[in-house]
Amino acid sequence: MQNPVREPVTAWVALGANLGDARQAVLQAFEALGMLPGTRLTGRSRLYRSAPHQAQGPDFVNAVAQLDTCLSAPDLLDALQALEIKAGRERPYVNAPRTLDLDLILYGQSRIDSPRLQVPHPRWRDRAFVLLPLADVSPEAVNAQDRVRVADQPIDVLPEDSP
Ligand code: AMP
Repeated sequence: MQNPVREPVTAWVALGANLGDARQAVLQAFEALGMLPGTRLTGRSRLYRSAPHQAQGPDFVNAVAQLDTCLSAPDLLDALQALEIKAGRERPYVNAPRTLDLDLILYGQSRIDSPRLQVPHPRWRDRAFVLLPLADVSPEAVNAQDRVRVADQPIDVLPEDSP
């Protein structure tokens, strides 16, 4: 049972996929995020293509979604993991290629450090595939130093109409 919190909180979710039709998986995930209980999709970044970073397999399709949600952070994580499973995600080994990866990057101003959930996500500021799409939906969240830190990580904007 999910416990809605009273006031909506703005949350940012990083989306990534590098197995199967990755672009389609990310587009469907935007839709699914907006249909979670007590949740509205208030922003979506462009789609990006990035080389695997501390991961394996083909290039990733990446994006960031901005949500207003009445779900608590743990309930939102449960919902993200349910969407990953629905998209066919398996975890045969750490950092294996994945049909869909959904990470909770920021949840309002909250700081959470529990065994299963850390927010802000511990590595978000080191990843071009999070920072660049996040800057599309929330430019104030990303500063010039962040961009310099990830400048050597290969990443491109993916045309929306590309196959
Ligand atoms: P991954 O395999 O990269 O999707 O990592 C998922 C694991 O990271 C799960 O066991 C989660 O409980 C844990 N985790 C911790 N913090 C977060 C977060 N902010 N967003 C998503 N997963 C998280």
